[in-house]
Amino acid sequence: MGELRIEGLAVDVAGRRILDGIDLIVRSGEVHAVMGPNGAGKSTLSHVLMGRSGYEVVAGSVTLDGTDLLALPTWKRAEAGLFLSMQYPVEVPGVRLEPMLVEALAARGRDTSVVHAALASEAERIGLAERLLDRPVNVDLSGGEKKRNETMQLAVLRPRFAILDELDSGLDVDALRACSRRVADATDEFDLGVLAITHWTRLFEQLRPDVVHVLAQGRIVATGGPELADELERSGYAAWVTEAPAPEPAVDPFADPLG
Ligand code: ADP
Ligand code: MG
Repeated sequence: MGELRIEGLAVDVAGRRILDGIDLIVRSGEVHAVMGPNGAGKSTLSHVLMGRSGYEVVAGSVTLDGTDLLALPTWKRAEAGLFLSMQYPVEVPGVRLEPMLVEALAARGRDTSVVHAALASEAERIGLAERLLDRPVNVDLSGGEKKRNETMQLAVLRPRFAILDELDSGLDVDALRACSRRVADATDEFDLGVLAITHWTRLFEQLRPDVVHVLAQGRIVATGGPELADELERSGYAAWVTEAPAPEPAVDPFADPLG
């Protein structure tokens, strides 16, 4: 039984407070949903947990079974058992999937002889065409294929805790069902603990959350059972958002440069 523990986490980005005291404990085998409107800080939370640069942790702690994750570089957090499925998976030209997974498992002292067969069977289970397995990681894959690819990596690596940042974005109904069911199965097969970040409840048709948290304006403003997700589906986030979020910086490529 493991535990991912976030306590009093406060984070600044570019001098602005984005996360303002997050407390959250995910135990092995549990699924916690973090739901919130655009700009709430959901991706910021996922990036800070995994150690992406550009975020300043100004208070709080994150531990995995007592290990201080914030003191570790990203690859050591992964070794400790943390996995991130990114909202927008990056392409990694020049790096093939299978050798990458072999290296990752070897670094954890795990059996790597099973990777080839595991990839083939997980690809079939998740519905990713086998010919795509030879591509460099995520290169020239569609949005949905990238998400299936990330989920397949999760299944092969068998991390202890997975953060899913909008696993549902860019997925059609069938792909969403395949990916979310695979993650749900992982909670039974290897006791995976899940932090599922999203603003849609459709992710939860297969991946039933044990606990639902509402993140708004950098804080967890409500915590409840699955019924909280249903309530959000009906009434939206308006009850928890007291002011309009800061506008996303946007550049209109068709704007007249002379105004
Ligand atoms: P969500 O994933 O919930 O939509 P994000 O965590 O992506 O929200 O963003 C939260 C807030 O932080 C937004 O106002 C966003 O503009 C801001 N933000 C995120 N990353 C950066 C960055 N690298 N530089 C400046 N502002 C950022
Ligand atoms: Mg986001």
